Amino acid sequence: MTIDWAAMERHCRALLPARAVVAAPQELLAYDCDGLTLHREQPSLVVLPETTAQVAAVLRLCHAKGVPFVARGSGTGLSGGALAENGALVIATTRMRSILKVDLANRRITVQPGVINGWVTRAVSGDGFYYAPDPSSQVVCSIGGNVAENSGGVHCLKYGVTSNHVLEMEVVLPDGTITTLGSGLAESPELDLRGVFIGSEGTLGIATAITLRLLRAPQSVAVLLADFTAMEAAGEAVRLVTAAGVLPAGMEIMDNFTINAVDDLFGHDEYPRDAAAVLLIELDGQEREVTAAVEIAGELCRRAGARTIRRASSEVDRALLWKGRKSAFAAVGRITPTYYVQDGVVPRSALPAVLAAIEALSRRYELPVANVFHAGDGNLHPLILYRADEPGVIERVQALGADILRLCIEAGGSITGEHGVGSDKRCYLDWMFAPDDLATMRLVREAFDPAGLANPGKIFPTPRSCGESARRQASSLSVRLDGPVSDGVLTPSLEPLDVF
Ligand SMILES: Cc1cc2nc3c(=O)[nH]c(=O)nc-3n(C[C@H](O)[C@H](O)[C@H](O)COP(=O)(O)OP(=O)(O)OC[C@H]3O[C@@H](n4cnc5c(N)ncnc54)[C@H](O)[C@@H]3O)c2cc1C
Repeated sequence: MTIDWAAMERHCRALLPARAVVAAPQELLAYDCDGLTLHREQPSLVVLPETTAQVAAVLRLCHAKGVPFVARGSGTGLSGGALAENGALVIATTRMRSILKVDLANRRITVQPGVINGWVTRAVSGDGFYYAPDPSSQVVCSIGGNVAENSGGVHCLKYGVTSNHVLEMEVVLPDGTITTLGSGLAESPELDLRGVFIGSEGTLGIATAITLRLLRAPQSVAVLLADFTAMEAAGEAVRLVTAAGVLPAGMEIMDNFTINAVDDLFGHDEYPRDAAAVLLIELDGQEREVTAAVEIAGELCRRAGARTIRRASSEVDRALLWKGRKSAFAAVGRITPTYYVQDGVVPRSALPAVLAAIEALSRRYELPVANVFHAGDGNLHPLILYRADEPGVIERVQALGADILRLCIEAGGSITGEHGVGSDKRCYLDWMFAPDDLATMRLVREAFDPAGLANPGKIFPTPRSCGESARRQASSLSVRLDGPVSDGVLTPSLEPLDVF
């Protein structure tokens, strides 16, 4: 169906305040991609509603005219979720930035979707509360985007991801109906449609108000920095700490490449430049509990081969250590103007072997890969560095990214931990799910959006976007899952042999 975009613009201008409709080509350019800059497509029109009623009015219009739409928060997504494919209408929530209600007695806060993640904690920290999910992009990403991606962060090891912290949502369905999912209570008897919506990447409607769970700030927090001369040793430390029953708030690893990039960014040596890997461990809770956990974690890091262990001496020192980790992507961005972030998950015990295999792939493809990751969750973020002006490089980058994901699946993991499927990984979804599984997921989507207008083409593989079944793109990797068993945990031996 051909869409009359000039008419759509007129209709939107009639529904929305002045300056809430963006139609000038040079202004639309600002919306032509998200954090995944490999793929770009300019929307036909962008609207910037301020209220739920305005969102509902625009979606009723889209429904009546058969116009596909894409919700957009801050556009930091790394899987192309906010990409306006085929020139769809973009509905950006950047003017929906009010904190609607703070209910400290019940430890809840209700916000509009465009509210920035970091603002939630800022709004309640003076009262001793905080919001736990903390993506590294938390100074800029929106709560609506977090909900749609079910985002994680460094503290999600202990406290869970976004879905563990959303109590209730006001949602505008693709036909413009306003509804509520969840009940604001910790438990409620109905089918968990709140859970279905979280992580649905904008394909089931638009969240317009979100009630989040707040946590009491812990009495005591300690951060340890352990450095290792081998990545395997850092992985072993993670395994030992977890096996000992210590549950850190976060456990993150940066490799040598990333350490140096961050030190360069800081302009001083915050992390030891010659280390193969550094491991950051945050421990929180009651004073005595933290003291004991610091002892145990420190000892286990030493046992795994840590060269030095430093405990942050002050809140400022703690913040600085985390700042380095959270600035890692930006630090790498200073080295190369373009990089492609992968996001895969593997069982913790497979981390060292998978990282070694990624290094081998990096050499084979002649593309540098920096590794910084949520080690406690086995959630890898290999950053593939490239120069966009090098002929044929995009194909190589994508092939390397695909091989890394194949590696994750072979190791018993997943093609995404927290960045979503979006447009980037839809062609790999059938590596993980059988046709029946995918058909069932599609049925759920159709129940919310029978006309298929909400973020069409995302998540699911289609012949148009993927050609032949991606399942048939046989991997060149050979993986043996019969490695040694340690503490009851299988350690796969991964051999990217036949690629060399
Ligand atoms: C430097 C950097 C670090 C990052 N670190 C992390 C990290 O540690 N953990 C992590 O999980 N992610 C991380 N990300 C990825 C990204 O920040 C998250 O996915 C974030 O949740 C996206 O939020 P956004 O507001 O930018 O959403 P967008 O990119 O604008 O949109 C993301 C998806 O959400 C949908 N959407 C947006 N708003 C709504 C809404 N109101 N209702 C329904 N659907 C909606 C969009 O259609 C799209 O599919 C990082 C990204 C960068 C650039």
